[in-house]
Amino acid sequence: HDAWLQGHLDTLIRDIPDFPEPGVVFKDITPLLADHDGFSAVIETLARSGRDADGAVIVDKVVGMEARGFILAAPVALALGAGFIPVRKAGKLPGPTHAVEYDLEYGSATLELHRDSIREGERVLIVDDVLATGGTVAATAKLIEQCGGRVAGVAVLMELSFLPGRAAVGDLPFRAVKTV
Ligand code: AMP
Repeated sequence: HDAWLQGHLDTLIRDIPDFPEPGVVFKDITPLLADHDGFSAVIETLARSGRDADGAVIVDKVVGMEARGFILAAPVALALGAGFIPVRKAGKLPGPTHAVEYDLEYGSATLELHRDSIREGERVLIVDDVLATGGTVAATAKLIEQCGGRVAGVAVLMELSFLPGRAAVGDLPFRAVKTV
């Protein structure tokens, strides 16, 4: 199954040059999402980050970041029997939130998490599509800690190894289904 997936990911994830701006090669996962076998194999692989070596579930919640993180994190949460928690851009969540502002290449952005979505001591897995600079993952980890949660790991579909994302992940258990 793993070998099949690695062989097919190159065709299921498209490189779109100069999107959304010149110089960026956008990793388009929509062909993967449209392919049932590819999508389910990716979810199964990401969900391994929420289990120990014996297959026992070791997380209480799975957090996904707006917007493509939602598409991957929600089915991972269902596969693990854990709750799904959305991290959203500023102003989208209706209840009281924690907020973290972080730097982008140009300017900054704010991410928010409902304060009551994660309880003190809960173990949380972070799931996203692409790890680039790591700013999004670092901000999400801060939000989880502000709720009193413990980040149990980070699982992404793709890691861009020419960018410093791994430094932002630090010592947390990390999985990338594919590294480019
Ligand atoms: P970063 O915070 O720099 O690690 O960027 C990660 C976030 O931006 C993820 O939520 C991705 O969805 C998105 N992202 C960054 N770079 C790319 C890329 N080359 N292709 C697709 N999405 C990207």
